[in-house]
Amino acid sequence: MPSNLNADLHCHSTVSDGTLAPEALAQRAAANGVELWALTDHDETSGQARAAVAAHDRGMRYLTGTEISVSFIGKTVHIVGLGFDAEDHRMLRGLVQTRGGREQRAHDMAEQLAKVGIQGAFEGALRYAGNHDLISRTHFARFLVETGVCKDTNDVFRKYLTEGKPGFVEHRWATLKEAVTWITQAGGVAVVAHPARYRFTANEEYALFTEFKSHGGQGVEVVTGSHTAAEYLTYADTAREFGLAASRGSDFHSPDESHTDLGTLPLLPSGLTPVWDLLSSRIQ
Ligand code: AMP
Ligand code: MN
Ligand code: MN
Ligand code: MN
Repeated sequence: MPSNLNADLHCHSTVSDGTLAPEALAQRAAANGVELWALTDHDETSGQARAAVAAHDRGMRYLTGTEISVSFIGKTVHIVGLGFDAEDHRMLRGLVQTRGGREQRAHDMAEQLAKVGIQGAFEGALRYAGNHDLISRTHFARFLVETGVCKDTNDVFRKYLTEGKPGFVEHRWATLKEAVTWITQAGGVAVVAHPARYRFTANEEYALFTEFKSHGGQGVEVVTGSHTAAEYLTYADTAREFGLAASRGSDFHSPDESHTDLGTLPLLPSGLTPVWDLLSSRIQ
């Protein structure tokens, strides 16, 4: 597989917090020229079989995917897994454990929102969740837009649901070691998702990549819908410094919400090892 491949290895369906079904996403990816695709629902792999079939029906190659929520030094970090065996039992158990606390968390979020006068948020958010095991802040955001509390989901995350704002609930996700181990033991490659999003200090970021590597992590998202053009170059340097392969993915969630469509990002900067080079035997 060439390094200038149109690969999109990060997006979400109705199995987590996207608004399109796996088949509709595959259709959109193929229409946009994606050649290698991965569906990476949060803490879930139940869309994988459908996504692989839909990819093949539309002439795309496929890698299995997920995006695991991790707690690292008191913040949430996302680790994308690619090319793992989707039937691996330790991985499946780990994902069940990781998403297990979401319902209680959603009740706690709704309780906090009620205190600032927003009633019915749990039921409201649940209506947007295609998978009731995976109620997420995105579903609350859609409810807050629908009810006119906020004008769009970006506005929601400025005023609610984030640290220090109403509706934010501390949550303990998987550890970095667990997430990386589940993915690698299942034959996949672990990738640090959208590193610029965490707003870590240089020391914190160094700690993240050092620990990630020590557990067997092998990749970093360089070109993602969450990065600016300057950040592509910053994280290309990180990939070289830490000897990591580079990934590319839109993080597409919805035609109405995502500013980056499937398959439309710039190609990886040259001179990097694309993550799909490590996964040639895992491509379906
Ligand atoms: P959760 O896993 O329930 O904490 O929800 C996290 C999801 O919320 C992310 O995957 C994004 O889809 C969405 N999200 C978080 N922060 C923002 C933000 N600042 N702007 C837009 N969407 C966000
Ligand atoms: Mn999301
Ligand atoms: Mn993410
Ligand atoms: Mn994502």
